[in-house]
Amino acid sequence: MGKKFVEYELYLVYVDQDKCEGCGQCIIYCPVDVFDFSIKAYPSRPQNCLGCRTCEAVCNSKAVIITEI
Ligand code: SF4
Ligand code: SF4
Repeated sequence: MGKKFVEYELYLVYVDQDKCEGCGQCIIYCPVDVFDFSIKAYPSRPQNCLGCRTCEAVCNSKAVIITEI
């Protein structure tokens, strides 16, 4: 019987507030509700992030940066 390991992948979700234009696309497309919105996007629930990088793809101003940690 081998030991069982559980792998965790954690992601840092960063929104550059200077670049964010408040289009709301990241909020619409994030499948796990990471972002909240008040004029600009803010990653309120980064622990939900799956690392799919959809938010990076839909952000025309390149304000979202996902980093695996
Ligand atoms: S998609 Fe980019 S520009 Fe639009 S709200 Fe999200 S972070 Fe801001
Ligand atoms: S990488 Fe995917 S799960 Fe993570 S914040 Fe962006 S859209 Fe949401």
